[in-house]
Amino acid sequence: MFSNAVVQQAWTRSGGRCECANRSHQHMGRCNRALVWERRTGESKPGAWVAESKSSNFLPNASDCEITCWHCYSSSQ
Ligand SMILES: [Zn+2]
Ligand SMILES: [Zn+2]
Repeated sequence: MFSNAVVQQAWTRSGGRCECANRSHQHMGRCNRALVWERRTGESKPGAWVAESKSSNFLPNASDCEITCWHCYSSSQ
């Protein structure tokens, strides 16, 4: 898990929008879906999101932390 400080840093970088750029998803380029800070729960509500590890190793810094909307997160599983 990422620390709150790391997640907040990544969130600021994301501008509150999904950073997913997975080519197998339906969005072109970055997803950019608008997210809601309070909805970091992984529930399938509008604006829900998760902090995903890009490397899958949860390196403790923001460069490994990707802000991902619930929709993209569940498409990647
Ligand atoms: Zn997304
Ligand atoms: Zn996506």
